[in-house]
Amino acid sequence: MRRVKTTCAYCGVGCGIVTTPTGERSAKIRGDESHPANFGRLCSKGTHLGETIALEGRLLHPEVGSRQVGWDAALQAVADGFKATIAQHGPDSVAFYVSGQLLTEDYYVANKLMKGFIGSGNIDTNSRLCMASAVAAHNRAFGEDVVPCSYSDLEEADLILLLGSNTAWCHPVIWQRIEAAREQRGTKLVVIDPRRTETAERADLHLPIAPDSDVALFNGLLREMKSRWQLDGAYLAQHVSVPEGFWELETVDVAKVCELSQAQLDAFYDLFAETPRTVTLFSQGANQSVSGTDKGNAIINLHLATGRIGKPGAGPFSITGQPNAMGGREVGGLASMLAAHMGFSDAERDCAQRFWQSPTICPGPGLKAVDMFNAVADGRIKAIWVMATNPAVSMPDANAVRAALAACPLVVVSDCIGDTDTTAFAHIKLPALGWGEKDGTVTNSERRISRQRGFLEAPGDAKPDWWIVSEVAKRMGWVDGFSYPNAAAIFREYAAQTGFENGGARLLDISDKDGISDADYDAMQPFLWGGTSPLASGRFSTPDGKARLVPVRYQARDDGALDYPLRLNTGRYRDQWHTMTRTGLSPKLSQHRREPLVEVHPDMVARFGLDDGGLAMVETGQGKSVFRVASTDNQRRRDLFVPMHWTDQTSGGGRTGLLPAQDRDPVSGQPGFKNTPATVRTW
Ligand code: SF4
Repeated sequence: MRRVKTTCAYCGVGCGIVTTPTGERSAKIRGDESHPANFGRLCSKGTHLGETIALEGRLLHPEVGSRQVGWDAALQAVADGFKATIAQHGPDSVAFYVSGQLLTEDYYVANKLMKGFIGSGNIDTNSRLCMASAVAAHNRAFGEDVVPCSYSDLEEADLILLLGSNTAWCHPVIWQRIEAAREQRGTKLVVIDPRRTETAERADLHLPIAPDSDVALFNGLLREMKSRWQLDGAYLAQHVSVPEGFWELETVDVAKVCELSQAQLDAFYDLFAETPRTVTLFSQGANQSVSGTDKGNAIINLHLATGRIGKPGAGPFSITGQPNAMGGREVGGLASMLAAHMGFSDAERDCAQRFWQSPTICPGPGLKAVDMFNAVADGRIKAIWVMATNPAVSMPDANAVRAALAACPLVVVSDCIGDTDTTAFAHIKLPALGWGEKDGTVTNSERRISRQRGFLEAPGDAKPDWWIVSEVAKRMGWVDGFSYPNAAAIFREYAAQTGFENGGARLLDISDKDGISDADYDAMQPFLWGGTSPLASGRFSTPDGKARLVPVRYQARDDGALDYPLRLNTGRYRDQWHTMTRTGLSPKLSQHRREPLVEVHPDMVARFGLDDGGLAMVETGQGKSVFRVASTDNQRRRDLFVPMHWTDQTSGGGRTGLLPAQDRDPVSGQPGFKNTPATVRTW
């Protein structure tokens, strides 16, 4: 049997995998020793991918209404529906909601159709829920969405700060690399997380901070470093622009706000002061917050002011959740960027339009995820196409999203799964290829571009997402812009765009790949764009070439304590992925946690009259759902934790998505999933 090198379907670590098909729908899976993300390592989810490639639950044929139809009829129905809506209500009456599960080529074509041909910015991605705040923080500090670290920095650091990341469960192979480095060089580890997770258990120092107090903690650390003369004056003078008044740092009582002891803070400050090679790795605990962008900038401020950036083993490092969230960032899959890291200035819009030779170009940014579904709800958006994601589960206030989809005149869903909470609202369902069947590229958290390769036959009528989007575009009248013979042709076009007139595409220039043949594309090895550290030159993409310190202030949250005296945090389990449409197929993965638990501090179990192991109703201002109670002092006293994975399709309870509010970061639009006022009662 032919061995095929590909990448894992799950998280943003982007591990390389070697597959050996063992039958029509089965394969042996092992880590790819030559892949620089994992060097042969895999976690439990990657290891058991072979158990998830059967055809159970697959969407295999196009459907219009409840009728199975051929591709031509389905594609024509989508094209006609979108064309009629645009003709009557204008380009902003339609939207695409896409996904970090798409390959870069799929993302590129969808973005091009919406922004260059339909002429609206209304394409956003579920990555908005994942790391949009880190993107916004990068843009504010660096003038562009640069990621100033790679995985090797974690192995060259002497101190790693993990902020809002249960790395051992959510990015397990990064965790394995960190643990190996700690073994070899004695790297110190500080975990900053309200919960005592498996990651926190292994830390030299765990700071169980109050939810959303991170800005106060990092401002306090910066103030402390200043008072200890630990700032890097030479780096600041040469590479950093400091706004007037910046050094009037806030003077909140950090211990009180963060609910930490002074001894814990002193230990943290001492460790940081004496360890220059520091990486701060941050994830959803930072980003999924109404102050997520400020948290990112508080971290970056610290690294800039102490010169801990652009050097081996030092820097602020946001890691992405999904396998190709970064690919979407590169091509413009977020409503807040145009394409290839371009913004919406006249010059950049003109550049994109001339490159695409498109009939129009969107006038500006589109609606971000929460705003997009609110626009569906109030009728401004009348046709939406959801690709490879399940917003009826994953969006905050998911019941509101369901009501919006139920009232929308045209809902198109392309997916590889037949029955999801979102396909239940689809007027038209389009069967997409899944992992192991599709071909293209993905970009991981350190911005390493790797090939994902198919090794299974396409089942039923399923097609690549890029093909589906292109065929709809052609039926809308744009044959010339969308006649791609294969994914390689799209990659070539995308690569060319990154270097086209350098029109804003300063950040990602892979235009040396635009001449690669189909065979070269097929054989393409993983590559890290821009070398190992794009900041090594110390020149940033701002008019004066300097990074910016961004003044940020801790914002206390009014959480309506009377009705909802607790705070609800949400997150992942080690062996499940998103809404379990794939991992739920693996018997071994399901053994880790068989049902959704609400983790509650023992004091609150007693106070609210709950039974450890019994059932309890968790309630917020948005909705309620039932979970089994797990009493644990890994939780802070007033905090609850529930997993994000269970849905109507998987369980009668544990529907976490309907609990968080739509509150979102004012800069990035990213919703806060980790600090929702809540209560709990026995059920
Ligand atoms: Fe897959 Fe992430 Fe596990 Fe690597 S760490 S095998 S990419 S789930």
